[in-house]
Amino acid sequence: MYKIIKTLFVFVFILSPVSTQELPDGAEAISGFSIYETLDHLASEEFQGRHTGDKGFTDAAEWVAGLFEEWGLTPASDEYGYMLPFPVQYAIINDASMSVYMVDESEEIGYREVELEPETGFLPLLYSDTADRTAEVVFIGWGIHAPDLGYDDYFGVDVEGKFVMCFRGTPDPQERRYQEHDEHRTRMQRAKDKGALGLIYIYEEPIANPNGDWIENFTPVKISYNAADKLLAERGFTASQLRADLLKYKRPISFSLKSKVRIQVDSDHYPDATGYNVAGYIQGSDPALRDEVVVVGAHLDHCGTHMGLLFPGADDNASGSAVVIEIARAFSVNNIQPDRPVMFVLFGGEEMGLIGARYIVDNFPTQFSTITHMINFDMVGAGDGAFCGFSADHTELMELVEKKDAYIQTVQSFFPIRDIGVRGSDHAAFHAKGIPVLYFVSNGPHIKYHTTGDTIYRMNPGVMEDIARIGYLTAIDLGNRR
Ligand SMILES: [Zn+2]
Repeated sequence: MYKIIKTLFVFVFILSPVSTQELPDGAEAISGFSIYETLDHLASEEFQGRHTGDKGFTDAAEWVAGLFEEWGLTPASDEYGYMLPFPVQYAIINDASMSVYMVDESEEIGYREVELEPETGFLPLLYSDTADRTAEVVFIGWGIHAPDLGYDDYFGVDVEGKFVMCFRGTPDPQERRYQEHDEHRTRMQRAKDKGALGLIYIYEEPIANPNGDWIENFTPVKISYNAADKLLAERGFTASQLRADLLKYKRPISFSLKSKVRIQVDSDHYPDATGYNVAGYIQGSDPALRDEVVVVGAHLDHCGTHMGLLFPGADDNASGSAVVIEIARAFSVNNIQPDRPVMFVLFGGEEMGLIGARYIVDNFPTQFSTITHMINFDMVGAGDGAFCGFSADHTELMELVEKKDAYIQTVQSFFPIRDIGVRGSDHAAFHAKGIPVLYFVSNGPHIKYHTTGDTIYRMNPGVMEDIARIGYLTAIDLGNRR
């Protein structure tokens, strides 16, 4: 079945009409088929879902470095070549199970056990520690402890030796002061400090998430709304109703439950691992501009393989990686040499909180003094058009992309990027340093985000070709810009 579907897809793609309009700068060299092949390889079992620090990721990074070498890109670092290392910690979940013990007065035993299905019912956060514990659950709204802001979900409840259960989010999505309390790391550490055994996040879908740090003796998990409803049934609540009330009244709703959960996790933690940013560049032609550089990037990493489940990350972000790799190939085969250098970077650690992008921005190869612009591609495989973000203070970047899109006609809308801290994708790490950025994402829908279902079958070679061509033309222009 696998082979048949793949062959059909490729066949249909080859037969689709090809635009006859002449493109500037040899942009025809960029091929959706070539991007699709790269994506297929990156999302394959060989690279195990590209979890930063893990062998699958490092193998993928080395494979990209090999391509850069083949195409004659200059290694970003004299010391490390194409593979720029950074410290990272990560974990692999070998095995896990979770049961809900609903209070049931009609049963002699008092509890009714319901075992949750892995992935659809529950999924450990990908940095959960090994444990096997059964305990009662305390619902704590958003899991925020911010007395200085007059808001405390922990007020009046005792969570010591219990599991806390909450939603991701804040009482007021428009209120920026809450943002730091909505970081996973902040929320997990708070629960640990309060004596909780673990944190149960309620999500529509318990999607994979490596964004956080391993905490000893702490087992965070995600569960579905459906599973949460089983726990909340003794109080006559549903998860969606509670969430709506939290948003409506903007006041804490916290209470203890008699229902229990058993959470069993077997994981391996690697505290001193190494992640990589893969980086190589095209030399500029003007010696006066050789310490300036345009960065074209995408994150190579994804969520890995856990409990025997492969998270292939085809859309997120084998698609963006394949686009950047194709742009690098086109620079090479077309012998493009702009006035200033153009660097191609495949980031690690994005899924863990932009760790790789933040690291390279702070430790940039020293032959360069200025990053003039950064172009980022994240989730560009699903759909048939593109959205483009640009640094709000640099409307000239929007105008530039509009000009290039006249040839391609794939950008459906633009949105200004303002102060986003380090939220969003890798461009945020550059934007936070005042570097003008462009960010491309396809129009989707990105419905299988961070699940085992984010596979190559939903990827559209046509949209990736269009987005890569715009990125290519834009990067050349920025390389020559005075
Ligand atoms: Zn992504």
